[in-house]
Amino acid sequence: MQLLQDKVRKEGIVLSDTVLKVDSFLNHQMDPMLMKEIGREFTRRFSDQAITRVLTIESSGIAPGIMTALELDVPLIFARKHKSLTLREDIWVEQVYSFTKQETNEITVSRKFLHEGERILIIDDFLANGEAAFGLTRIVEQAGAEVVGIGIVIEKAFQPGGRLLQEAGYRVESLVRIASLEDGKVHFVE
Ligand code: 5GP
Repeated sequence: MQLLQDKVRKEGIVLSDTVLKVDSFLNHQMDPMLMKEIGREFTRRFSDQAITRVLTIESSGIAPGIMTALELDVPLIFARKHKSLTLREDIWVEQVYSFTKQETNEITVSRKFLHEGERILIIDDFLANGEAAFGLTRIVEQAGAEVVGIGIVIEKAFQPGGRLLQEAGYRVESLVRIASLEDGKVHFVE
């Protein structure tokens, strides 16, 4: 997606060889027009699939997730990273190791919003090792629903998440793929 690639090139800040900061349009300040285009692009890419809900993880997945859900005309659910007051038997729970925070979070989704037989599109902002995406697939599968695809805004293709998800049989669509962050620069996959 050229618009997104241009934005990453212009505004992305390379923090290290493995971490890219995009807080001017995705992770802190958010660009609504860009999010709208992202929602359209995911919808176009998964137009061959019947989708009943979009699932993401708080907080940075919510903006691309809601714009995709709006285009698809289905609800968005976001997995919570913090414990709520809900009873354990009312929620689906998985453990997810966070690449950027280097800690394990428990993620939860209410059973009220994810049901057997549903066809779920997973959306997230970044793909690194695939921990967040795999955690979301496990939640969907616990519920007896099906993952029809995984849409990623920025994939760091030099990390193994994309390959691992594809090897596990998931369809992954990444809008921008980064080959490396070496020398303080973003190098895109051609
Ligand atoms: P994974 O679970 O695939 O290892 O990492 C993906 C998650 O970690 C995303 O949900 C995202 O929040 C965060 N993340 C991973 N790498 C980066 C990065 O380079 N920059 C930012 N801003 N977030 C990242």
